[in-house]
Amino acid sequence: MPFTANRRFKAAPRLLERAEGMFYWDTEGRKILDATSGLWCVNAGHCRAEIQQAISKQSADLDFAPTFQMGHPLPFQFAQRLTQHSPTGLDHVFFTNSGSESVDTALKFALAYHHAKGDTARTLLIGREKGYHGVGFGGISVGGLPNNRRAFGNLLQVDHLPHTLDQKRHRFCRGLPPYAVEPAEALETLIDQHGAGRIAAVIVEPVAGSAGVIIPPEGYLQRLREICSAHGILLIFDEVITGFGRLGTPFASQFFDVLPDIFTTAKGLTNAAVPMGAVFVSDTVHETLMTGPEEQIEFFHGYTYSGHPLACAAGLAALDIYEREALFSRAAEVAPAFEEMIHSLAGLAHVVDIRNLGLMAAIELEPIPGKPGERGHAALTAAFAAGLLIRVTGDTIALSPPLVLEPEHLAQMEKTLRSILESLA
Ligand code: PMP
Repeated sequence: MPFTANRRFKAAPRLLERAEGMFYWDTEGRKILDATSGLWCVNAGHCRAEIQQAISKQSADLDFAPTFQMGHPLPFQFAQRLTQHSPTGLDHVFFTNSGSESVDTALKFALAYHHAKGDTARTLLIGREKGYHGVGFGGISVGGLPNNRRAFGNLLQVDHLPHTLDQKRHRFCRGLPPYAVEPAEALETLIDQHGAGRIAAVIVEPVAGSAGVIIPPEGYLQRLREICSAHGILLIFDEVITGFGRLGTPFASQFFDVLPDIFTTAKGLTNAAVPMGAVFVSDTVHETLMTGPEEQIEFFHGYTYSGHPLACAAGLAALDIYEREALFSRAAEVAPAFEEMIHSLAGLAHVVDIRNLGLMAAIELEPIPGKPGERGHAALTAAFAAGLLIRVTGDTIALSPPLVLEPEHLAQMEKTLRSILESLA
């Protein structure tokens, strides 16, 4: 099973059989409130009829078209529609099949961009501690989770910024923690160490998701942008989680008002109904790749399934729903009630931190001494038994409900979380 400690995995797996709106049903017939949008991806709620019909129609009309110098109209239409939501100036789209592929594609874009400019010394990539960028070789190289790359030896040339979680000062912070100068200035230190002329790009998740919802301090992303611009370094946002409304804006770059040079997406792109990712690049990156010196190798990259017809059909239908139901701004409207709900759990036994932004939140539990992850696992098991799907990283519970949630779902989340946290005490 993917993402499972298979050798130690003795319990019967929890198997989901059916889904609709805010709910799953498992093979035992249990109804489960989905407080995680699957894996941060089913932003418009499950099994939307419109998406299902679009996929079905598309599979009858055109199941597949080869990529090499050939294609079909849907990726162009979808890209056009997507750029109505992406920040101005980030209007060029390349389709992949997953978040991991989007990340590896974005890193290749960054290296190819400098190469096309004749700047071949810029080969170093900077990620961040606790960053998660998928499981491709590029993604685990820039990713800041050492366990994910331990078994693979030397990977790409990388270094890492420190993460921004400051629990000495900012426990139980609502929204953005106040600016702290150190985490962003650490980029200047890395530049001093390596030399700006060697660094191709910095990649960060605007809000780190998989490591347990780490919210950047106010002004942090702006400062990274300034430093990158001053040194000719590209800034890449990994928006695989934050894209498609999670923060109440189409993308995190609009929430923070910071423009990256490249950003990655996947998950909510098709409401997760068909696997797909997309990388957006700035006009400058696009122009450079299209017009770099002839003697440079042209950027050559793609997948058999880039812009797959069924994925495009699902994505276009998802976008119709996002637009018609104004789900991105709806997320912003629901976020204050979500924040209230989550912070009302402060004070329960073992709750050592609560953090939130938009419709993302984390409840961090104190680890059982000598048994990290065990309390988190107990919370997951108890929540599932009580009909609530949460996600757990170590001892941190992460919540990211679909953007269509209603007050009654918030109430159910609160009630179940309160009761399982009390029972764990
Ligand atoms: N980047 C980020 C920020 C992610 O959260 C994820 C998945 N959780 C990925 C990349 C990888 O996406 P995928 O699992 O679709 O390859």
